[in-house]
Amino acid sequence: MVAENHNSNDVAVVTSNGYKPSMFNAGVTLNPSTKAQIADSVNEILKAIGPENLDPQGTERTPLRVAELFDELLSGYSIDPEQLLNGALFDVEYDQLVVVKSIEFYSLCEHHLLPFYGYAHVGYLPDKKVVGLSKIPRIVDMFARRLQVQERMTQEIASFLDSLIDPKGVGVVVEGTHMCTVMRGVRKQDPRMVTSAVMGSLRDNAATRDEFMEHLRNTSV
Ligand SMILES: [Zn+2]
Repeated sequence: MVAENHNSNDVAVVTSNGYKPSMFNAGVTLNPSTKAQIADSVNEILKAIGPENLDPQGTERTPLRVAELFDELLSGYSIDPEQLLNGALFDVEYDQLVVVKSIEFYSLCEHHLLPFYGYAHVGYLPDKKVVGLSKIPRIVDMFARRLQVQERMTQEIASFLDSLIDPKGVGVVVEGTHMCTVMRGVRKQDPRMVTSAVMGSLRDNAATRDEFMEHLRNTSV
């Protein structure tokens, strides 16, 4: 799924707080007029927090910075899977498990707009095709750089690989630390949340699943 760069009829409007499209970079996912709207909204948040609580100099450019930053953090919406893969699908006679462990990711939780981050572990049992190893972290990134919940991100990575490579089985395990729980002190001991999605033989065949889990056993993240 590739999101259009929305508001593509870029009208030169000035928002109520004085932001205009010309103040922003062209953007990847968010175009300049969308960024002006975001900046305007962040400005409203700052006003609501109250000028008496703010350092006017420090926060003056905050709305602009946040709008530019969100474009980067949400760039996963604009990635074209075809381009990302760039022909890195290969026909091979290989029927052993392929595992890529500890892929670092950074995402934004859609409930609080705060980061969650950690590691994704991806495994698949090829049928006739394999994907270039360097592409798997980029697939993880494509889904992480969106507004997410960890459960859905895990499933999306697995489903994407399943439709892409049509393997005998695929498994994805994600360990994430969510700032919205950690900062509030909800989970202090072990802040990681673990989610998994298994399909095909990694779900149905205990030996294959065990082999995948064995690969992950000594992964300390
Ligand atoms: Zn959250």
